[in-house]
Amino acid sequence: MANKDFELGIDYAKALDDKDVLKAFRDRFYQLEGGKIYMDGNSLGLASKDAEAALLKMLEVWKKQGILIWNVDEGHYFHYGLKLGKQLGKLIKAEEDEVIVTANTTLNIHQAIATFWKPTKERYKILVDDLNFPTDRYAVDSQIKLKGYAIDEVLKIVESADDIFIDEEKVIEAMTDDVALILLPSALYRSAQLLNMDRLTKAAHSKGIIIGWDLCHSIGSVPHDFKKVQPDFAVWCNYKYLSAGPGASAGIYINRKHFDKTVGLAGWFGNKDETQFQLNHQFEQAPNIVAFQTGTPNLFSMAPLEGVLNIYEEAGIDRIRAKSLNLTAYLMYLIDKRLKGYGYSYNNETDDKKRGGHVALVHEEAYRICIALKAHDIVPDYREPDVIRLAPIALYNSYEDAYKLIDALEIIGKNKEWELYSNERALVV
Ligand SMILES: *Cc1c(COP(=O)(O)O)cnc(C)c1O
Repeated sequence: MANKDFELGIDYAKALDDKDVLKAFRDRFYQLEGGKIYMDGNSLGLASKDAEAALLKMLEVWKKQGILIWNVDEGHYFHYGLKLGKQLGKLIKAEEDEVIVTANTTLNIHQAIATFWKPTKERYKILVDDLNFPTDRYAVDSQIKLKGYAIDEVLKIVESADDIFIDEEKVIEAMTDDVALILLPSALYRSAQLLNMDRLTKAAHSKGIIIGWDLCHSIGSVPHDFKKVQPDFAVWCNYKYLSAGPGASAGIYINRKHFDKTVGLAGWFGNKDETQFQLNHQFEQAPNIVAFQTGTPNLFSMAPLEGVLNIYEEAGIDRIRAKSLNLTAYLMYLIDKRLKGYGYSYNNETDDKKRGGHVALVHEEAYRICIALKAHDIVPDYREPDVIRLAPIALYNSYEDAYKLIDALEIIGKNKEWELYSNERALVV
């Protein structure tokens, strides 16, 4: 819970760091130049030495082997998506053959909807929420249009009452007999609210509805148990908490009970291994998750993941989650004690069971405060209209980082430093 027995003062922060069982992992990551404090690992995780080594190793193989890169180590790189998927799947307790690393989140949503959404006269609706990241909606909407339907005819949207949280009761109420498929985020990208995947998946299945989850804001930060939850599909990116690099190839999970379904988007890397290089014009679908790949794997966008997954395996997702929760609770404690007088508050769940990996700091001058934070050598993350997402990452942020962040926010608040900056929005905010 938030506001457990923390104490004020930098010495206390340092004492927490001393006791931190994950502190050694910080040195496996590159810290930003100039000693900048990074609080944006939920948008793009930092580079690690392990990721770098895996990428350089791959480059060497290419340099020395040319096209034979596909054959070395018994097809290690040819089967790379599946191999990485096996290791990645452990983070969500998927079966060994249910995850593949491929494409990007948006395309994987297209793939899942194209595969699973089979509208009939009675059952044709797609249920979504109104707080999910926009690309999920763009993908769903275009799939609806591709099948010749009107969006408002098909889409059923659960609306948030406060633009911050989603009410699970309302989601369950919306699971009517005309709903064919549900797509929801595991964690909301602004408020870090965790939806109860087990409860909602069971409710969907009891109504015969296919349900898929977007794990972008939870994977690598929050443990999942897919053996228990048994969703139909899931998608996520690997560049946020998982730190696999900008544009890293994404992940897709398909419950193995669906391996007999015909994939919506077929390509030659979804063909059976045995006949792929016969180059027939008749697609022969692979009998497993490989079917959900389309074209040639983007090797250089995958290698860093191989490196960083080793760090995850050593650190353990449960220890990562425990530290992450403690760091965000500590931030909330410090906000309560030191920042409330300057117009700051937070719009996130305080309950550990419902809180993802960041604190959603709110201030009416949030945009300009973010610019001021950068002048204090802190990298935050702004989300319209008034949220500063603060993501202390368990593997590489310290309690001292969190403490210094609060120091800077206090000074900015006290001196109204935002007045020094313009409110005009930059390209990437
Ligand atoms: C970050 C994020 C994405 C990103 O999609 P890409 O296609 O990988 O760029 C999608 N959905 C959610 C919920 C996200 O948070």
